[in-house]
Amino acid sequence: MTTFESLGLSAPLLRALAAEGYSVPTPIQAKAIPHVLAGRDLFGCAQTGTGKTAAFALPLIERMLADRRTPAPRRCRTLVLAPTRELASQIHDSFRAYGRHAGLKAAVIFGGVSQRPQSAALMKGVDVVIATPGRLLDLVGQRLVDLRAVEFLVLDEADRMLDMGFIHDMKRIVAMLPRDRQTLFFSATLPAEVRELASSMLDDPLEVKTTPQATPAETVSQSVFFVPKSEKRAKLVQLLREEATGRVIVFTRTKHGADKLHRDLDKAGITAAAIHGNKSQNQRERALAAFKSKRPPVLIATDIAARGIDVDQVTHVVNYELPHEPETYVHRIGRTGRAGQTGVAISLCDNEERSRLLAIERLLRRSIPQRNAPPAGPIPEPAEPARGQRGPGGPRGPRTGRGTGQGRPQRRQQGKRRQEGSRRPGRGDQAPATATVARKPKKKHRRAL
Ligand code: AMP
Repeated sequence: MTTFESLGLSAPLLRALAAEGYSVPTPIQAKAIPHVLAGRDLFGCAQTGTGKTAAFALPLIERMLADRRTPAPRRCRTLVLAPTRELASQIHDSFRAYGRHAGLKAAVIFGGVSQRPQSAALMKGVDVVIATPGRLLDLVGQRLVDLRAVEFLVLDEADRMLDMGFIHDMKRIVAMLPRDRQTLFFSATLPAEVRELASSMLDDPLEVKTTPQATPAETVSQSVFFVPKSEKRAKLVQLLREEATGRVIVFTRTKHGADKLHRDLDKAGITAAAIHGNKSQNQRERALAAFKSKRPPVLIATDIAARGIDVDQVTHVVNYELPHEPETYVHRIGRTGRAGQTGVAISLCDNEERSRLLAIERLLRRSIPQRNAPPAGPIPEPAEPARGQRGPGGPRGPRTGRGTGQGRPQRRQQGKRRQEGSRRPGRGDQAPATATVARKPKKKHRRAL
């Protein structure tokens, strides 16, 4: 069995790990630590919860101990870049915990607070700086920190940093560092721009990928609706009024999609909040605080932004759009059914997403109960709703009591669609398909859940 000792860590670290109660290295630690100790660059695809912080912090502390130096004022040997102050603080805590017998000094730097204590810590000299990119650049600009002595660079949650628009800041910072350094690059997802960034900064890296959990909790009841793309918004409104009435997270794939949906729910009189990478730290914190409150808004989130959400009582997860990577589905629905509670995960699957649904089912090794029958061929896009057909939620209006004045905007919306429909030929031809999607599942609901 792999032990921390067999990975090559020395006594001060082993004592700290024993105090933390870690007995066995996690897979990413077992794979990464020996190579980082040997000086190799690392490209790690890992999500929070895999033990990735220790996977980089432990070997870097070990490397600094092996070649101990007195920290010079304003300089540091290890620089860790993280997207948010919460993550930076967590990493700082980890360095302090793992390094408690190593006698190394660490400082954390992020914006939104006074810079004085941060610059005072830097003036004394530290071994490790953990920073968010914006504040670090501020301090560099004021010559309060000098990055020319950095030997080890860590980029944590690189995908989230890109999503938050830190790409130029990151590049500027990296350009200030010595070329002869060791770089450890972590990202939970691997879109093309992350790979591109990684290849521009890594030298023959070891690639480590942790396999995300493929089995969602038994406590999450999953189901799927087949819905034409143009009907998704109405279906969601209906679900939010009739069924998903607790603490609900709705996932969209893009920031733009999240904002659009936020506006649409607003128009339907449903109180919602959106979190994604383009929102400021304060906006995200406000949205999360509201989401944790007793009357939570519907939270619309992109996958990357949702990583910061740590709320136990999420009752429903709605996949407004299915993710490209099946593992992301597992991650999303794991937001509900936590801490012994039950949870509900509902997916809206349109025509183009059917292959994604199959990929998810392959990963889960089971099929997801269907709330309405999938059409044999492509899901038809209706020309317009049938005359006199109820809008989402029906004329009785919402049952949830979310927000106020829900009825009016909907009628407006329906009227608008009618006008649009009247300009199209053959209107009403495909209306029954809409009706099937909107009405039929009622009975099946209960059976599927
Ligand atoms: P991370 O993925 O770095 O955020 O770590 C997730 C959690 O796992 C943290 O609470 C760590 O303290 C914990 N952890 C990390 N490595 C180990 C380990 N080898 N054994 C037990 N817990 C660990």
